[in-house]
Amino acid sequence: MSYEHMKIETKLIHAGEPQPRLNGAVVMPIHQSSTYEYRGETNYHDLRYIRLNNTPTHDVLHAKIAALENGEAALVASSGMAAISATLLTTLSAGDHLLVQDCVYGGTNDFIIHDLSACGMEYTFIDVQAPDTWISHLRPKTKAIYVESITNPMMQVADLKAVVAFAQQHKIVSMIDNTFTSPINFRPLEMGFDYVLHSCTKYMNGHHDIVAGCVVGKSTGIDKIRRKLNHLGGALDPHACFLLHRGLKTLALRVRQQNTSAVEVAKFLENHRQVERVHYPGLENHPHYQRARELFSGCSGMLSFEPKGEGEAAAKIADSVKLFIHAPSQGGVDSLIVRPAVSSHAGLSDEEKKRSGITEALVRLSIGIEATEDLIADLDQALNKI
Ligand SMILES: *Cc1c(COP(=O)(O)O)cnc(C)c1O
Repeated sequence: MSYEHMKIETKLIHAGEPQPRLNGAVVMPIHQSSTYEYRGETNYHDLRYIRLNNTPTHDVLHAKIAALENGEAALVASSGMAAISATLLTTLSAGDHLLVQDCVYGGTNDFIIHDLSACGMEYTFIDVQAPDTWISHLRPKTKAIYVESITNPMMQVADLKAVVAFAQQHKIVSMIDNTFTSPINFRPLEMGFDYVLHSCTKYMNGHHDIVAGCVVGKSTGIDKIRRKLNHLGGALDPHACFLLHRGLKTLALRVRQQNTSAVEVAKFLENHRQVERVHYPGLENHPHYQRARELFSGCSGMLSFEPKGEGEAAAKIADSVKLFIHAPSQGGVDSLIVRPAVSSHAGLSDEEKKRSGITEALVRLSIGIEATEDLIADLDQALNKI
């Protein structure tokens, strides 16, 4: 049965599932076998072996994730970073050049600066809000452009239509990290991106209990990345595949709740006397509100804000909340709180922090699926302690 014409809620449950079901099992079983009987395969990458990411548990998950992003094929990996690094290492060779959004995820940023450059690849950070400037950074060896759907922790939305148009015009590969939006809110392949990447550790799994990643795109490209990942050894363990598969089934329910809850929380914060600024693209006064409305069906559960006062005010809030857990990461059912200046972005120089707008007072929230009024009451009591 084909689910192509069906809604994403239906695909989450049914796409990719074996027909007929294995031994009638309603839930896809975990194939906890590292090796499989030889069936006459003639190519190393077709052997059935756990590091080659091709047990029946993987195959079903690949088909489901490809269907969610409306891509031809998908590949899971042992982490978001495994998917991102394998995709970049497949697309670029020594001497090639990459255009990168200037405020990408810290791990991606460090991988590009330290590891890609050590492999002889070059990069330029570009201002994604200024498409006119990109052409001046283009080189004969520019192979790809890399962006994120919503940036962390300032929740900026790049001119993604311009990214696709630029990539197509100059025949370079376009890649987007869609972790923050999830395919519920945004499916970049539909607007012409070549590769979509996720840290499945976040919304895709959604329960804060595994590390995983994936990449989705055309079959030929995904097959090349698969071969690279086979050599790098970044396979996803079958038990993690099972948990990701299970988490995915509730993705639409979770993310819709997080979308609406985050809007409420953002509005509450915006009107609180102890709050200076709120960064959430679902708020009308956010500079990219119109763009987000056009591109996304929701802005997800990630937002940041600055209370009145300096770092002590932010520290007080992080210490005083009772429902929000003071921990990094995001996109799961539990609400989390962090201070980027002293955690995820602590490695930046003062100058870099200033340029990115990351103040000592900045607080980032990942809204979970608790009742919105309880989350608001928790933030209210914490803010009133400043
Ligand atoms: C967490 C994250 C990653 C890295 O994913 P891991 O699963 O931790 O390797 C990449 N991009 C974004 C936007 C993330 O939030």
